[in-house]
Amino acid sequence: MPGYLGNKSDSQVHHLAAMTQDCKIVEIKKLDKVYFVPDTINQAIIEKFTQCKHCIKN
Ligand SMILES: [Zn+2]
Repeated sequence: MPGYLGNKSDSQVHHLAAMTQDCKIVEIKKLDKVYFVPDTINQAIIEKFTQCKHCIKN
């Protein structure tokens, strides 16, 4: 199972193991879902995603 999921429509990345209802991951459309290789938050940031404030703490 992947650790991080990106949403192309709002450029946010979520930490799946820590997701909350506020992440609204079920509302992300299939075509908007992005996974990262390697599956790390750093890779998501390199790809210009913003960390979700609900599931990723700085
Ligand atoms: Zn989130």
